[in-house]
Amino acid sequence: MNTPEPLIFEKSVPNRRCFSLPACDVPESPITQLIPQKMQRSRNPNFPEVSEIDIVRHFTKLSQMNYCVDTHFYPLGSCTMKYNPKINEDAANLEGFTRLHPYQPQEQCQGILKILYDLEQMLADISGMPCFTLQPAAGAHGELTGMLIIQAYMKKQREIRNTIIVPDSAHGTNPASAALCGYRIASVQSDANGLIDVKKLKQMLSNDTAALMVTNPNTLGLFEKDILEISKIAHDAGALVYCDGANMNALLGIARPGDMGVDILHLNLHKTFSTPHGGGGPGAGPIGVSRALEVFLPIPRTVKNEDDSYALTYDFPDSIGRVRAFYGHVGIMIRAYTYLLSLGKEGIIKTGENAVLNANYLRNILSEYYEIPYGKTCMHEFVISAKKQKAQGVSALDIAKKLLDYGFHAPTIYFPLIVEEALMVEPTETESRETLDAFAGAMIEIAGAIAQAPETVRNAPQKTRIGRPDEVIAARNPKLRWKGTG
Ligand SMILES: *Cc1c(COP(=O)(O)O)cnc(C)c1O
Repeated sequence: MNTPEPLIFEKSVPNRRCFSLPACDVPESPITQLIPQKMQRSRNPNFPEVSEIDIVRHFTKLSQMNYCVDTHFYPLGSCTMKYNPKINEDAANLEGFTRLHPYQPQEQCQGILKILYDLEQMLADISGMPCFTLQPAAGAHGELTGMLIIQAYMKKQREIRNTIIVPDSAHGTNPASAALCGYRIASVQSDANGLIDVKKLKQMLSNDTAALMVTNPNTLGLFEKDILEISKIAHDAGALVYCDGANMNALLGIARPGDMGVDILHLNLHKTFSTPHGGGGPGAGPIGVSRALEVFLPIPRTVKNEDDSYALTYDFPDSIGRVRAFYGHVGIMIRAYTYLLSLGKEGIIKTGENAVLNANYLRNILSEYYEIPYGKTCMHEFVISAKKQKAQGVSALDIAKKLLDYGFHAPTIYFPLIVEEALMVEPTETESRETLDAFAGAMIEIAGAIAQAPETVRNAPQKTRIGRPDEVIAARNPKLRWKGTG
């Protein structure tokens, strides 16, 4: 049933071809005359020699061995694996966009410039942050850009502040981005409710604090209800407030970080604003800033002239400079723009509401079978602790593996770090009640199996092509290159 698919190189048969070309009707020019000796390859490149159907079957089979949102429910917490409407792809593939050259004269690119400008305005409306750049290529890149802006701001203020405060539930990229800019990281503990401990935060804030990095809703799927007080005490200490808005789904059309005292926010277009992601492809992590920080935004910036034409401007002397080649990942921006236009204002509000409804629906069912340590209700996601199951010999990893046998992508596991044996579930708004029920059913059966026959969960998955790869070796010593047989 699950015969392993050989490598394309292993399918190679000498002289098998997937093309036929007419015979050459001009004298062949020996390659040795055209390419200097020192640049010539001495060894045969050893390309696989296969027929067209070999190639088609090979790659089609490989694609079917994978999980993707188009085929499977994908409740990977914090990653917002929502369904991506195909119309977004169609729009990004329009020739008028794909054939543009980044150095084309601006008069010829008014359409795309208008889209970039309008998208910034839409994100500003949704987030309450007045000024945006679309350049950063990912959430983590947005964080880095934000940290560089904080540094530029402090320098301009002639202040020396070396510490960034990050909650212990934060996404790992938060401290990493701050550390990349040379900041010292101070971790503020969450309280018993999974929220930032405001008292502890107050004690930690000092004239060395450059900024506080908050995530709201936080990675436990909880709304930081004291956010107004948190921003106020940070500002009172002379620090800025950075908000990780990678998971903006729950707030869409309902609440705005800009109204919560946030100075800098990043959004993940590839999560909240529907772009296929997770396969290592391009993303976009725009950041929005307050008016006071606008001058530091990366260049070029898209501006609207008095005659309603659009332009790219470099005339911002305090800018931190470029953070990305050209203008960032424009294709991702077109997808987000299409997504927002097709949803409209009402649709955006419903998106937020349904993301929260779906998560609470699942949370409520599963809380009878699994421990959910924080919160009574959640925002867009919730975190299960498989601590009790672990005592019965079954770990969060085992449960995640078992879900694969049911045809579900696993939730995020072992994150956030403050939850033991964490399973972080984010259903997203695009899933139907039937899908949520099927997933809940699988989780309930797994809970039953753990009590009756834990080894059936420990030995999962049985139905996938590959069982349990050695994850450490797969991560640390992956073999990604065919080295040939000779
Ligand atoms: C995904 C995520 C990030 C990082 O985004 P990338 O685009 O993967 O770099 C940061 N913070 C949170 C909370 C996230 O979920």
